[in-house]
Amino acid sequence: MSVSTQCRDINELLPAAKKACNLFLEECKKAGLDIFITETYRSQARQSFLYEQGRSRPGQKVTWTKKSRHTSRLAWDIAVNPPKDLYDNATLKKAGEIAKRLGITWGGSWKGTPDMPHFEVQSNWTPPANGNYTAAEKSYLEQGDQGDKVKQLQIDLVKLGYDTGGVDGIYGKATANAVMVLQRRTGLAADGIAGENTLAKIKVLLEQEAKSSTPGKYRVYTGAFKTKEEAEKQAKLIGEKLGYKPFPKDKRVWTGQFTSLESAMIAQQNIRREFGFNPQIRQEQ
Ligand SMILES: [Zn+2]
Repeated sequence: MSVSTQCRDINELLPAAKKACNLFLEECKKAGLDIFITETYRSQARQSFLYEQGRSRPGQKVTWTKKSRHTSRLAWDIAVNPPKDLYDNATLKKAGEIAKRLGITWGGSWKGTPDMPHFEVQSNWTPPANGNYTAAEKSYLEQGDQGDKVKQLQIDLVKLGYDTGGVDGIYGKATANAVMVLQRRTGLAADGIAGENTLAKIKVLLEQEAKSSTPGKYRVYTGAFKTKEEAEKQAKLIGEKLGYKPFPKDKRVWTGQFTSLESAMIAQQNIRREFGFNPQIRQEQ
């Protein structure tokens, strides 16, 4: 390869650097940074050639050293894809932050002669053991979110007597509204976002409820419907709207088991309010 050509092949790096570089690129991608590698391994001949630029050869100085981690196969340079500038500052800084989390040295952090597109590692680099290098997980839940965490939030809210419009793992308008009502009642900023304060408050409320509750095994059940099919249909609707693991039995809808009378009473109220039924509570042995 000629001294004026850049090698962009990650496979030309030492194993540790190759691993670091790949992980770095992966994390940059996750963070939405649209970057690419401009150079990895650099021969000493090329390093010396570059060093002469702006010195014995015309042009702007591009390097301040005859020695470089590139020649040791431990460094790589990046640039930013269009439409951003080739060396978009904000993007390079974000990439620098990611590198820091991964234990990779970022040239942008060098005092004196920072080199923002440059990244390097030692030959004994290993990925952070705690695995916390993945882009920090969002610490809050908001409208539009989906998944198990949302579902747990909905279960908790329903337990506290709030209507989330179903326990479906989808943070929709009703769930946001339930959060907002809770926030208003407890003196928190009512933004409908379940952030740290709101989640902490919910935890406290659940603990309080558990303490002041009457423990036992309780189920809520509706009156008898005309047909078995009707009971099945209503069980499904109650489950979709409120949770409670309802099932049909003897033309009635029965909920799953509650572990306190109070939580069963909240379910009873919710079913009454949402469906107009007049459900009863039964204690089980
Ligand atoms: Zn470099």
